[in-house]
Amino acid sequence: MPVTSMIYDDNNIFAKILRGEIPCRKVYEDDHTLAFEDINPQAPIHTLVIPKGKYVSMVDFTAKASDAEIAAFVRAIGEVAKIKGVKDSGYRILANSGEHSMQEVPHLHVHVFGGKSLGAMLVVPRA
Ligand code: AMP
Repeated sequence: MPVTSMIYDDNNIFAKILRGEIPCRKVYEDDHTLAFEDINPQAPIHTLVIPKGKYVSMVDFTAKASDAEIAAFVRAIGEVAKIKGVKDSGYRILANSGEHSMQEVPHLHVHVFGGKSLGAMLVVPRA
């Protein structure tokens, strides 16, 4: 179900991963950022990158996060592309925010996709 509120919910699944309450397949971690494998991959490479802070969207993050958190988050995306071996073959990053984007987890996350040709940028739903 897509989110209908942009208020941070401490019970969201990524908050539980950050608190160690449920496991994840970790790809990368630093002081501000965690990256782990998506549980339902949409491409051969599908890794999620999240800030450790409580931010629901990119707007929330860029308004409230420190420069160090923002720098770490952007760098982590590059690190993940390198770690997952797609920096030369190519990859796509995507962040859903809000109802129209079909965001499901109300904790900011960037998807990193790769490992095959990813096709057109957007599949537009039929009206
Ligand atoms: P979004 O629709 O952009 O909010 O994406 C949420 C993503 O989180 C989906 O791709 C899910 O497959 C993924 N996801 C949900 N639960 C977990 C989990 N426990 N571990 C890893 N990925 C998850």
